[in-house]
Amino acid sequence: MPSPELSVVIPVFNEVANIGPLLARLTPVLHRLTPDWEVVFVDDGSADDTLLRLRAARAADDRIGVVTFSRNFGKEIAIAAGLDHARGDAVVIMDADLQHPPEVIADFVARWREGFVMVYGQRTDRIGETPLKRTAARAFYRLFERFGETGLPRGAGDFRLIDRRGVEALRALGERARFSKGLYAWIGFRSIGVPFTVEQRLHGNTKFSYRKLFSFAFDGITSFTTVPLRVWTYIGTVISVFSILAAAYYLFRTLLFGTDLPGFPSQIVSVMFFSGVQLMSLGVIGEYVGRIFAEVKSRPLYVVAERLGGPAAVPLPPGPRRAPAPLANALVPADG
Ligand code: UDP
Ligand code: MG
Repeated sequence: MPSPELSVVIPVFNEVANIGPLLARLTPVLHRLTPDWEVVFVDDGSADDTLLRLRAARAADDRIGVVTFSRNFGKEIAIAAGLDHARGDAVVIMDADLQHPPEVIADFVARWREGFVMVYGQRTDRIGETPLKRTAARAFYRLFERFGETGLPRGAGDFRLIDRRGVEALRALGERARFSKGLYAWIGFRSIGVPFTVEQRLHGNTKFSYRKLFSFAFDGITSFTTVPLRVWTYIGTVISVFSILAAAYYLFRTLLFGTDLPGFPSQIVSVMFFSGVQLMSLGVIGEYVGRIFAEVKSRPLYVVAERLGGPAAVPLPPGPRRAPAPLANALVPADG
């Protein structure tokens, strides 16, 4: 079967009421863009009639594909599964609740045809969100910007189009705690934002509780920085230095004015010194754990955007630890 030009991946979790209205708005947009499209729904273990509704949609149009999970694995994993199953030259990721207006996909595709590999939707504001959520999100992004290994474009979420090259790069990332927003940025490539206005969720409520959001943020921070592991070295060093200063201070005070509480200075100084040393050694262990973590994530060392004079598309080698393409392959001259 030839691969379609455009795939749309939609993770769904208990969205029965939204699927009909979503398809009614989405398919005309796709028709206008290309006759050659597919929609891949990933049913993330819905407990309502979502799957029944999806089966009906598939029966009516076989360009609609459905992947169902055995239980709820979470949106990030559902997106990963969608990218594994989508076959298009470009893949759009969007939510099922019509907060991501399907009409924007036309702008995405226009940008993609201009040569951008990653076209992300950029929220112009965060309407319909509580001030608490907004503040928490802002704090998170500030933290990520300060310590994360990649920047995150402002207002960018999962609503985006990714060229096949980007999709393959994402699929080659072996890590299990998947913080998609970070991964999109990590793979790089020519990217551009397209502003859009977030609409109100059509039916139902958000599937993300504060608890889920917090653990999501935690995943994001911990998979893109080892700073929390390593700060202890610095904190420990500071405390140890203070203990030495305190020792000097107590020594001179005792020499000049005598002692008012015998034993106290030596106690406080040794407690400070040894807690500092312990924190430092925790930090040293953290350095190594951080390196082990980087290794077990087994991200590819680099992502090739293009090869001049080599084969245009090199298929990914199989296996969980994907080795770089063999050197001989990379050196094939342009004329064969
Ligand atoms: N979703 C999912 N699995 C989950 C939670 C959400 O597949 O465990 C889907 C959900 O059906 C929707 C999208 O992810 O299509 C975004 O979810 P939601 O609208 O609840 O998130 P919000 O817009 O509030 O961030
Ligand atoms: Mg939503």
